[in-house]
Amino acid sequence: MKKVIFASLMVAATTVNASDIMLSKTIKPDLRSKIERDLNLIEAFKFKSDANPETLKVMGLSSLNAQTVTEWLNARVNYIISENALSFFNLLIKRVVFVETKNVDFPNSKIIPYSMDKQIVQNGLNAEGGFTVMSNIGSALYLAGKQQSQVYGMKVSRGFLHKSEKVAVTSPRAGIIQIGEGLFAQELTVNKENPDALANSIFRLGTFFHEARHSDGNGKSLSFMHTNCPEGHDYAGMPACDENLNGPYTIGTLMMAEMAKACDEDCSEKDKETLKMLVLDSASRIMKMTHKGEKATAWDASPESL
Ligand SMILES: [Zn+2]
Repeated sequence: MKKVIFASLMVAATTVNASDIMLSKTIKPDLRSKIERDLNLIEAFKFKSDANPETLKVMGLSSLNAQTVTEWLNARVNYIISENALSFFNLLIKRVVFVETKNVDFPNSKIIPYSMDKQIVQNGLNAEGGFTVMSNIGSALYLAGKQQSQVYGMKVSRGFLHKSEKVAVTSPRAGIIQIGEGLFAQELTVNKENPDALANSIFRLGTFFHEARHSDGNGKSLSFMHTNCPEGHDYAGMPACDENLNGPYTIGTLMMAEMAKACDEDCSEKDKETLKMLVLDSASRIMKMTHKGEKATAWDASPESL
């Protein structure tokens, strides 16, 4: 499940209320309104006052409320693009991904991300087992560019008759997140009887926070890449585990738990149980030992940038 990978003519780009996240015009209206609904929800989310100190520490926040978490998300997610944004046609004919600058000296250019010596390519497109519902394309493009000493750019559609916005990927914080219909698939729906149930949004938002963490890091910690889960793990052999203590799965676990905690009245017992299981599933992907046999630590989250 984790896998994740990811209008009107008068206004060029739809902005989600207070947040500055831009949804590409190629996202179908139905999917768009569902995504906007989730984002609007987090902007007004009523967290319980007793936030887990670990949540604050890992996220680098002094308090946990709708505004602080929305800002946290906005710093890491700037654009949401559709699942066909990187289709063969779009890449080859429309050239949505292009080389912005060649022969660029990247910071930490000799440093390979910690989890990467094992897996050749972990580009986020299919980095997490299961089917892909969300992925951080921005950080994947930054990493790909860094390996080739060039800066990639990406065109994000602003709609018919409008010039697309060109985003130069000069940092893992480019914040281009791809979302597919799969995010709203039955398999990933906590409460299948009521699509609008708060628990459903909580799970999806947990995924959002997970994905946002991939916009962080530098050198060894760049984009907080996953590692293959070890033998005996439910996801053995799949790059669906973290070998640090503050990566995407930690963020997703903590944030989902914080949101679930606030869902006492609005979630059914069954929904709460399911959320609890999903929190545990996410937590089970946080490895205490790395694939190099070292004790897992918290990685440096500050994002590198050109
Ligand atoms: Zn991930």
